[in-house]
Amino acid sequence: MQTTEILAALDLTAAARAEGPDVLAVRSPIDGADIGRVAVTPAAEMPAVIARAQAAFRAWRQVPAPRRGELVRLLGEELRAAKAALGALVTLEAGKIASEGLGEVQEMIDICDFAVGLSRQLYGLTIASERPGHRMMESWHPMGPCAVITAFNFPVAVWSWNAALALVCGDPVIWKPSEKTPLTALATMNILARALARFGDAPEGLCQLVVGGPDLGAALVTSREVPIVSATGSTRMGRIVGPKVAERFGRSILELGGNNAMIVAPSADLDMAVRAIVFSAVGTAGQRCTSLRRLIAHNSIRAELTERLVKAYASLPIGDPRATTTLVGPLIDHAARDRMLAALEQAKAEGGTVHGGRTVGQGVPQGGAYVEPALAEMPAQSAIVREETFAPILYVMGYDSLDEAIALQNDVPQGLSSCIFTLNLREAETFLSAVGSDCGIANVNIGPSGAEIGGAFGGEKETGGGRESGSDAWKAYMRRATNTVNYSAALPLAQGVKFDF
Ligand code: NAD
Repeated sequence: MQTTEILAALDLTAAARAEGPDVLAVRSPIDGADIGRVAVTPAAEMPAVIARAQAAFRAWRQVPAPRRGELVRLLGEELRAAKAALGALVTLEAGKIASEGLGEVQEMIDICDFAVGLSRQLYGLTIASERPGHRMMESWHPMGPCAVITAFNFPVAVWSWNAALALVCGDPVIWKPSEKTPLTALATMNILARALARFGDAPEGLCQLVVGGPDLGAALVTSREVPIVSATGSTRMGRIVGPKVAERFGRSILELGGNNAMIVAPSADLDMAVRAIVFSAVGTAGQRCTSLRRLIAHNSIRAELTERLVKAYASLPIGDPRATTTLVGPLIDHAARDRMLAALEQAKAEGGTVHGGRTVGQGVPQGGAYVEPALAEMPAQSAIVREETFAPILYVMGYDSLDEAIALQNDVPQGLSSCIFTLNLREAETFLSAVGSDCGIANVNIGPSGAEIGGAFGGEKETGGGRESGSDAWKAYMRRATNTVNYSAALPLAQGVKFDF
């Protein structure tokens, strides 16, 4: 599909031709081509945006949750119809290979399906009361407008993880996408508009989009009228956003950087491990929060594994992400490429031996930032290994005992995803236990990336502690009320307290 066809299929032709001083130029990472100009939301409009969301909240919270789920069901249907075009736009705007662009839209569909079921399952507990003739229970209520700030690398899926849950939970959504990917956000809003039209009577302002940079995000982060702020991006961003939300006692859901590791034990199925390593270290050109960045291989198999990986890396097709044969597309921009090259220089200075990692200029579209994925054999977990460089660099380290491997895995500031490849039950269970991985995601014989929506997604430490998507992540979008009902004719006090007068 050509750019113009994709934009037309998603009703974006006019929106992508904005003119005037406050316009954001959108460049495709494929070749740097200008693919659209979109209007920036003036900062002065933010109070009105927030007021509209508050007004929508007053109506939406009264709509029964299963009816709210109907809107999300319709959104899932519209996403199915638009999957090919939206997937192609993700590829064009974020540079993901075609299959991953489509996979991102599939993830949106999956979370819609999940949320529709959830709309009939917002359960509270009943609790045994210590007082006769009393009943205790928990009820869950809508919380209010939810700001969703998203990163460039999952330009639409992260919004849907939040929005599908927030909507069934009764919360309006205000979305501030990455300034690098506004077109996919506008397209998603157009798809949602189709669902809203079919739904019929959703309040105006239920789902809004604001296009621009951190200043718009800051307006949401500091407003007391926005009780939930879900922010996905770098730890640097989370360090600013988290304290600001906390200062006003708001609720934040922080999904920040990762530095994900795989331990490969002597018993591991190396064929499977190699496939998992290559997909999770190189997929999305190393630009997933869950990308594999550290390989901790037992010293008895380290040399063989590294050799196999060097060979596999040399055969990877790098190029235009729209070509079905490509496995490694471009980095988001040239600044990301420069950060990768600088990290590799630092790795060398810290004693590393680097394989690959060169800029690719031949056989790729000109104007994009194409690189060979890099393997860096490191003598230790040095400073650069402990940082998240958002690019396809895999640091390789050795270990002798499982305790040592787990200590290395945990000894980084981030705590998102982790895994072990082993056929040894004791090792696998130790890794998953309280003395094992300290991450939000810990896997056995599966790489650290490519999570399903059914589980709660997120991580510990500098990853921010937030959880999104499946399991009971919905609870972060609602407020819990504990209710005690006295159906007796007496008024006993808890803990046997007497207060007679
Ligand atoms: P980024 O931090 O540069 O930007 C993310 C978003 O935050 C953007 O919308 C940006 O405009 C906004 N923002 C930046 N500063 C802000 C501020 N002071 N106030 C309010 N908003 C602000 O991140 P990026 O480069 O787009 O994405 C890559 C990063 O995101 C990586 O670190 C990656 O690990 C992380 N990420 C994490 C997850 C997760 O679920 N844990 C998922 C995807 C990406």
